[in-house]
Parts: sequence; C-alpha cells; structure tokens
Amino acid sequence: MQLAKRMARVQASAIREILKVAERPDVLSFAGGLPAPEAFPVEALARAHADVLSGDAAGALQYGATEGFGPLRAWVAERMTRRGLPAAAEQVLITAGSQQGIDLVGKALIDPGDVVVVEAPSYLAALQSFSTYEARFETVPSDDDGMQVDALERLLRRKRPKLIYLVPTFQNPRGTTLSLERRVRIARLAARFGVTVLEDDPYGELRYRGPALPPVAGIEKEAPVIHLGSFSKTLAPGLRLGYAVADARAIRALTIAKQAADLHTGSLAQRAVARMFETFDYDAHLARLRRLYGERLDAMLASLERAFPEGTTWTRPEGGLFVWVQLPSGIDALELFGDAMLARVAFVPGAPFYPAEPCLETLRLNFSNRPPDAIARRLREARASRAPRRRIAG
Ligand code: PMP
Repeated sequence: MQLAKRMARVQASAIREILKVAERPDVLSFAGGLPAPEAFPVEALARAHADVLSGDAAGALQYGATEGFGPLRAWVAERMTRRGLPAAAEQVLITAGSQQGIDLVGKALIDPGDVVVVEAPSYLAALQSFSTYEARFETVPSDDDGMQVDALERLLRRKRPKLIYLVPTFQNPRGTTLSLERRVRIARLAARFGVTVLEDDPYGELRYRGPALPPVAGIEKEAPVIHLGSFSKTLAPGLRLGYAVADARAIRALTIAKQAADLHTGSLAQRAVARMFETFDYDAHLARLRRLYGERLDAMLASLERAFPEGTTWTRPEGGLFVWVQLPSGIDALELFGDAMLARVAFVPGAPFYPAEPCLETLRLNFSNRPPDAIARRLREARASRAPRRRIAG
C-alpha cells in the first residue's frame, strides 16, 4: 500500500500511544483527558434513549440532516446566546465531537502550505489534523493569560495566515485562560486583518473559580470567528457530540465538508441528548461536575510541591482538566516518564504539544479522572520511589 505523501508529515498521537500503556489497571494515569465516569449522567441518558426509541425509532435510526437535529441545534443556539455568543439555530452545525469541527475547518479552509497560527504548546490533535491538510505552523508564545497578543500582532503584520487556532479557556495542555483584554484585542485583530479565528472551547463550562469570560466569537461582529463546543467533557465523550457556531457562510462550507466526511452525526445520540435536555437540569449537573473537579484540581495543586523537585513550577488553572508542569532546567520529562511508570504513575511529556522546538522539560497532568486522595497519595509515592535524576546533556 502506498500512502499519500502528506501522511509522511503526520505523526501518530503520542498521547494515544502513551494511553495504551497508561490504561493498564494497575497504573494511576494522569495522562489522558478522561472525564470521571462516575459523573456520566447514565440514568438520564438511558431514559432518554429508551424514550426516543419507543417514541421516534424511525427518526432515531434513520439517516438525518447533515446540519444536525433541529431541536439540538436550537438548544445549542439558545445556550450560546446566553453565554455571550448570540446565535440562531441555523448558525449551528452538530459535529461528531469538537475534534470533527477542527478537522472540518481544516478541510474547508486550509490549502497546502497555508499558515496556521497556533499557541506553543497547543492541542496535539489539532496540530495533527491541520498537518493532514498540509498546513505550515507559525507559533505564538503563551503565558498565564493565554496567547501573547503583541507577538500575534507582529506576526500578522509579517504573514498572511489562513487561520488562528486558539483554545482560549482552560487551554489544553496548559490549563490557562486568555484574559478578557486579550480576547478583545484578538477579535479586533481578526476583523482588521481578515483572518479567521478558530475558537476551540470544550472546557468553557468547566470553571471552578473566577468569573466567566465571553467567547471570542461573541466580541466583535465583524471578526470571522468559528466557535467549537462539545458535550464530551460535560456529558460523556462516547456520545461523540459537539457543535460549530459561525455565520451562515462558514456553516454552509463546514456542512459540505461534513457531507463528504460522514453524512451526519449519529441520529440516536442527537435525539437522546435533545430529549434529555427537555427535563434534565443541566446547570445543576454542571454545578456537581465543577465541585467534583474543583476538589481534584485542589488536591493536585496541593500535592505538586511534594511530588516534584525544587525549582519546578506549574500553572494554576481556574477550570478545565489539566495542569502544566515546567521542570527545572535540564530535567527531561520523557526520562521522568520512564521512572514514573516504574512507580505505576503516568503523565504526558510536553514535547509533542509543540509544533516546533519542543521544550523537553514540560509535562501535562490530568486531574479529572481519579478521586483527590488517590491523586495526592500517588504523587507522593511516585516522588519517594524516584531515582536521582540525570540531566539532559547540553
Ligand atoms: N479540543 C480540545 C482542546 C480538546 O482538549 C479535545 C479533547 N481532548 C477536543 C478538542 C476534542 O474533543 P471531542 O471531540 O471529544 O469533543
């Protein structure tokens, strides 16, 4: 079999490879971005599926519209309007997770060689997806307030990128959030330079402290922004339900791209979730999730000092699923990974999240998947069992 040339540049996801090892039952994994299974609304979903199958089996099991199930599109439009992105149902496309939204944007917008601006580090599977469309990456550094806008502006003056890819809220992998001031500036820059922004927001509703910030897509009417959301982290990732919200022209292009990809998102899951939302108290469910994950985040932050060598620093997210750790200079996270696996603890070394020039002394920790006491205990044990570290040469 001869593969397409473009596949030579696309690497297998290091995270999925690590997850294969990390999923051994005896390993405590801080590696994946897995939500807590005990928080899945199993009963409500079971009832909703049963209702839909008994009341509307023909609709639920039949082919459906590419744009998605009407009542679910309307629900998303209404919720996004309340969250600061005014939208009509026609501006919503239901996708197979937000991952498909990323891929459809790549398919619809990126020609080979087009420049895509990304944060460094950035969400690995987005880099992977844009690579399959033969994008070239330009990176803009991030700090605790997200993408550095001065650097972005300098870049926009020099280059004409096709797309700016952002995870503004509780970024994967750093957990940090783009400040309000930077959101406004990025929206204005997008309008001024006519560059499309892809706002990928699967974590926006998982805020444990601090005030909510408006989506970048809702700030500047003239700015071309495509907003992506997901039910993976708030309901369950196995549903594979996400959405894109954008102007009619963009939604039309993404819909055509989706027709060619999978015709439409699963009819049963869409109807079941729409049915569930008729009676389910989603806000109360989110409040429970925020409490649960907030406690786990606190447990992780409280343990890090004892778990890592002196001189280690880490981000202090206000939500989402990840903490980003910066090791002291010269300690390679990949080597540390080998040691941690001996102590049956897994994490993701940071290097694969960089499109170029990786920082080897970084790693990502997930805190959503295990109870707080397990997080604290294992981080302590991993520290105790660690051999003295060798330094990276050079
Ligand atoms: N974007 C980001 C930033 C993510 O972290 C993830 C999941 N890890 C996704 C998109 C994809 O999520 P899903 O397709 O399950 O909605």
